[in-house]
Amino acid sequence: MCPGGLVVPAATAPGEIVVNGMSMSRRDSPFANSGVVVAVEPEDVAAFGGGGIFAGLEFQQSVEQQLFLFGDGSQKAPAQRLTDFVQGKPSANLPDCSYIPGLTPAPLYQLLPSFIYQHLRQGVLEFEKKMRGYYTAEAAVLATESRTSAPVRIPRDPLTFMHPQWEGLFPSGEGAGYAGGIISAAMDGQNVARAAGYLS
Ligand SMILES: Cc1cc2nc3c(=O)[nH]c(=O)nc-3n(C[C@H](O)[C@H](O)[C@H](O)COP(=O)(O)OP(=O)(O)OC[C@H]3O[C@@H](n4cnc5c(N)ncnc54)[C@H](O)[C@@H]3O)c2cc1C
Repeated sequence: MCPGGLVVPAATAPGEIVVNGMSMSRRDSPFANSGVVVAVEPEDVAAFGGGGIFAGLEFQQSVEQQLFLFGDGSQKAPAQRLTDFVQGKPSANLPDCSYIPGLTPAPLYQLLPSFIYQHLRQGVLEFEKKMRGYYTAEAAVLATESRTSAPVRIPRDPLTFMHPQWEGLFPSGEGAGYAGGIISAAMDGQNVARAAGYLS
């Protein structure tokens, strides 16, 4: 959650929509934003890329491109009100949002892969039980923050943390597929530094 932050465009190639969230040090925007993550397991993406090592990457691309195709060719993010998203119905209009390219009303409950939608929907309803007011029509759901962790994992030995074939190579952090976010990347870095003998 970035209080006083903004949602930013984060695509790295033409023909895709990717968003991310951040805040400036003053945290003085009138908006808050949070990314809500769904775990994607190898069996979820087995139908992509022939089930090979790039299956996750192809799945990720297919989601990002599908969302782009729904739009008008710009970086406007497909979005809907949170309550409509959960109820599976279109949004007639959208609340104000920090995302500078703007929003396009879109049936995200249809555009997102079904298992992702169902997990998000369930998650939002659970959050509401713990944080009253979370489930509100004033919030917009934007799609999609799809770069939370690398869709490809570089192999490493679970004990030495080294690549099984390249001695001295320690795949670590997000890019190597062992973290998604600041804290998990930091923890993975600590574990690897310890295994490499740089931390006690
Ligand atoms: C806009 C934005 C907002 C984010 N917001 C959040 C958030 O709110 N909460 C959260 O948990 N996570 C957030 N993240 C994700 C978070 O930044 C990453 O998960 C985290 O930084 C990953 O850490 P890392 O050490 O694995 O990789 P990185 O931080 O990417 O570090 C990799 C380093 O390797 C360097 N490098 C790359 N190639 C080479 C090379 N060939 N030689 C030498 N050095 C090289 C890079 O310059 C970089 O410094 C956000 C990311 C972005 C882009």
